[in-house]
Amino acid sequence: KTILVTGATGLIGRPLCQLLEDRGHCVRTLSRGQRGDFQWDPGKGELPEAAVRGIDAVIHLAGESVAQRWTSEAKQRILSSRVQSTELLARRILESESRPVFITASGINYYGYNRNEPVDENSRQGNGFLAQVCEQWEGAVKPLEEAGSRCVYVRTGVVLSSAGGALAKMLPPFKAGAGGRIGDGKQAMSWISLHDLVRLYVTCLEDAKICGPINAVAPEPVSNRKFAETLGKVLGRPTFIPTPAFAIRTLFGEMGKETVLSNLAVQPKKLNEIKFDWSYPDLEAALSHTLKE
Ligand code: NDP
Repeated sequence: KTILVTGATGLIGRPLCQLLEDRGHCVRTLSRGQRGDFQWDPGKGELPEAAVRGIDAVIHLAGESVAQRWTSEAKQRILSSRVQSTELLARRILESESRPVFITASGINYYGYNRNEPVDENSRQGNGFLAQVCEQWEGAVKPLEEAGSRCVYVRTGVVLSSAGGALAKMLPPFKAGAGGRIGDGKQAMSWISLHDLVRLYVTCLEDAKICGPINAVAPEPVSNRKFAETLGKVLGRPTFIPTPAFAIRTLFGEMGKETVLSNLAVQPKKLNEIKFDWSYPDLEAALSHTLKE
């Protein structure tokens, strides 16, 4: 199969492209810089027609990083980099003859940032900026769905990798023995190892029965306290030093409230139904593996 991958230079894109090639797929990358097979500029509506010609699937990972202070300009970039790029891809594909499978990243923040009950793919949308981003991002795929493409929205939890993302930022204080829970530590964290996430994308590509939203989270969400204790155990370091919630709110503002302090116990209902073959369903094993990489 020929697969067009956007955001291929990122944390998830790099190992995903490698796995796709290992499985015999032909990978085409689309990047804003010189590092891709094709260049695009979603803000200017620039996407060469040749990039979508003859493709069997698109995996759309591109998007401005969420991990920054959410000024109004940053929020605009976070939203438009996802929505405009999806609209542009959809437009080019609809102009072409092909109806490729379309798999896009999305986030568990679709369900909001503070839910007292566990949520699954059937749960209603939640509140907050990221919930709106996810809704519009997924919504931009709808014209393709209506035109007959199989579309999948990978609502991704906190990705565990020592190469980047949330865990990489937590590692220095935890390694120094200055880690611990955040706030009262009761907030639920829904996580997934990068290793399993990349395998899940391949499953979404190869299993024609999968469509619509799919939660990319391990079977067992944990409390933030449990997460901190497990990370400390794997590193062989104490985790007695909590970070107060107000410090996160002061340092990171709205971004801190919706991400670092979020409380989301997300169930992978669809992955359970297809009996996804987890490599790391357990947090301790996932962290041990990730930190060895
Ligand atoms: P990265 O930030 O590592 O990579 C994203 C890629 O998107 C970049 O390599 C870049 O590719 C492209 N990009 C960056 N900024 C922009 C922009 N302003 N406009 C267009 N393209 C841009 O992301 P991840 O690999 O971690 O995540 C991939 C997707 O999964 C993202 O959309 C993210 O929101 C989502 N996700 C990730 C989670 C995580 O924990 N990592 C959790 C939930 C969702 P290039 O320079 O080649 O154009």
